[in-house]
Amino acid sequence: MLKQLLADRECVPPLGTIDQRLRQCNISRRSFLVFCTSLMVAAPYGLALTDKTRPEDVAAVLGKVIRPPVIWLHFQDCTGCTESLLQTSHPGFADLILNVISLEYHETLMAGSGAQARQALDEAMQRYAGKYILVVEGSIPMGAQGIYMKSGGRTAMEVLTDVGGKAAAIIAIGSCASWGGIPSADPDPTGAVGVADLLPDHSIINIPGCPPNPYTMLGVVLQYAADGTLPETDEQRRPKFAFDRDIHEHCPRRAHFDAGNFVKVYGDAGHREGWCLYEMGCKGPDTHAGCSTRHFNEIPDVWPIGIGAPCIGCTEKAVAFKVPMFEVVQLHTIAAPPTSYASITTTRGTISPLATGLVGLGVGVLATGGYVASRKFSRKQDDDDAPGEDPGSHERPQP
Ligand code: SF4
Ligand code: SF4
Repeated sequence: MLKQLLADRECVPPLGTIDQRLRQCNISRRSFLVFCTSLMVAAPYGLALTDKTRPEDVAAVLGKVIRPPVIWLHFQDCTGCTESLLQTSHPGFADLILNVISLEYHETLMAGSGAQARQALDEAMQRYAGKYILVVEGSIPMGAQGIYMKSGGRTAMEVLTDVGGKAAAIIAIGSCASWGGIPSADPDPTGAVGVADLLPDHSIINIPGCPPNPYTMLGVVLQYAADGTLPETDEQRRPKFAFDRDIHEHCPRRAHFDAGNFVKVYGDAGHREGWCLYEMGCKGPDTHAGCSTRHFNEIPDVWPIGIGAPCIGCTEKAVAFKVPMFEVVQLHTIAAPPTSYASITTTRGTISPLATGLVGLGVGVLATGGYVASRKFSRKQDDDDAPGEDPGSHERPQP
């Protein structure tokens, strides 16, 4: 449906191609290439990526895409999902993201409030009726006829039904919007549910996580903007490109798991050596997500296990906020070690011959691509920080 925007371009002047917008805002090509590199690592978004695909190829495709209009609603949330989108490590990245999409309404970011905000929402819905992507952050309180949350006199249920009903597609970002998240934990007096519980027949993509990786959301939005399709999903409406593997499968501590090297107490010798966190309650073996290969804030190792904390299973409805933090999960599908391990160092214990002998064989494409792209990113960031090339120094026009 967004393809129609191409034909309607004269009728919807605020939109244009991503290339046009970046030129208009004096955003450097180099910054855009860095963004595309991160996108390649975190969200292949339907591009048939190969090991020969370069950020320039992605930029060439994306540059021609009409900026997709996005309306972003908040319900029972902590705004952490928004924070994960905007707290990027690279100067100007948040600005860049907000220029790649056309964010028409976002209660946390907009200056207006009250009647002004409501007017902005109504205008955006009217202008892009049937064409905008609705991003929902936070759970919807269904209990007691929805009295636990009202906005402008309407319950959350009424707002979502209204705004969601005119959207081309809906993205439920975060665990709260996907299936209730933290607000749905016992005893939950509000009756918190996810978007699909209220609008089961709509085109909805769930991107659970607390918070989720923002590039997964951007990948879905940009795929839809590029060719009008949504990514293939699993039975929980999660895009397979980001949720088709469990954390344990590509965890950098997996060699320690297979060798029987487990952290027993935070701060013990094994913890300091980076041993496996399974006995600390790590839910990685039961959790489908891409965190172990697609890290946060464009920095390698920035994710819970990367900094020594166990995975809490935040993308799994049956695990997060339901299974106690230190409870050890059952191992269902761990039959054989992976074909490769991330490199580790250890001065204690012994890594099994099986664990070490397979290193180097059939390195996973994504893991390698992620690492290589991350290194490229670091170099490009250094380049961008060179005098006279500061991509963060531009003034961003209001959307
Ligand atoms: S999913 Fe997590 S980060 Fe996002 S709004 Fe809910 S509690 Fe906050
Ligand atoms: S149990 Fe957790 S820390 Fe250990 S290898 Fe699996 S995912 Fe990694």
